Amino acid sequence: MTIKKKIAILGSTGSIGTQALEIARTQKDKIEVEVLTANTNAELLIAQAKEFNPNHVVIADTSKYLQVKEALASEDIKVFAGNNSIAEIMEITSADTVLTAMVGYSGLLPTIKAIENKKRIALANKETLVVAGELITKLCSTHQVNIIPVDSEHSAIFQCLVGEDLNTIEKIILTASGGPFRGKKLDELANVTKAQALKHPNWSMGAKITIDSATLMNKGLEVIEAKWLFGVKDTQIEVVIHPQSIIHSMVEFTDGSIKAQMGLPDMKLPIHYAFFYPERIKTDFTRMNFKNYSTLTFEEPDMQTFRNLKLAYEAMNKGGNMACILNAANEIAVDAFLKDKINFLGIMKLNEKCMQKVSFIAKPTLEDYIETDIETRKIAKDLIG
Ligand code: MG
Repeated sequence: MTIKKKIAILGSTGSIGTQALEIARTQKDKIEVEVLTANTNAELLIAQAKEFNPNHVVIADTSKYLQVKEALASEDIKVFAGNNSIAEIMEITSADTVLTAMVGYSGLLPTIKAIENKKRIALANKETLVVAGELITKLCSTHQVNIIPVDSEHSAIFQCLVGEDLNTIEKIILTASGGPFRGKKLDELANVTKAQALKHPNWSMGAKITIDSATLMNKGLEVIEAKWLFGVKDTQIEVVIHPQSIIHSMVEFTDGSIKAQMGLPDMKLPIHYAFFYPERIKTDFTRMNFKNYSTLTFEEPDMQTFRNLKLAYEAMNKGGNMACILNAANEIAVDAFLKDKINFLGIMKLNEKCMQKVSFIAKPTLEDYIETDIETRKIAKDLIG
């Protein structure tokens, strides 16, 4: 019998968080929700807390503390506010698994605290590994903590590697849908709108990651994420555009054999897998029918037009704090694009400029990463004007 999983969901009101709770709702006898945290969506957090009755709730936006506290006054739930509280809860919660589903850099410190407290990490916040992959990987081995990826590509690779010797990996092949602007050239991209960029052809996701998919930054971040998760060399990670998003990624082994993991593009599958690994638990998710997919196609990514993917490879090759710089610049750039302050191509330009301007540190400490993040955001904002 499956032991009941005690789960903390960091970022419970976002796309991954709400899908994780859908799973918790249908697997009530197997999942206990211990912690829920949200950035600003107090209304939804309150509703979730009333339904799932966790021990701890955190609203990062301190101005909404009283609203949440009062709404949950009659429940047996402890309410906290502020980003620091999310990290602090990791020390007191009895959760055994932490789903890191917050957006961007904010995932870093809570994830570190969760690892130090020996929680199993269901990693949806790829930025944590992009920013500080070396540090996080070391911390995991010190505390003997496993990271189970929730990112669909990395879940696919992880599933392909079950039972395999990691030394027999020849190549990791990350698939990418190509996003809504696949095939477009620079002159066509100059005037694309926010609404067009937010329309992902296959996956339903939050705004930040959907824009990242349109610029191929998401795939760039995933390349770096793969390097740290699977301990491979930079040259062993390849990206192939696969517009149907049925093959979620592949591993080629040293004997030439290739394993692929497939399924319908539904984030509930990798979340579910991460919660219950190494077990596979039955679901009633919609099954894929091969007869509906007569053609699966593959093509080379256009890294000249979608510079972000190239910048990510460059940042990975350079090492040090360069990926941290790229990530911070990109968070500011995407936010500025969503607020109509820069255009689509401006995102890639801003990222490239920040990589040139921000001080490079070859062997960064945690404090250096924190400093780099602050410095990059400042420079990026100055560049936007
Ligand atoms: Mg992904």
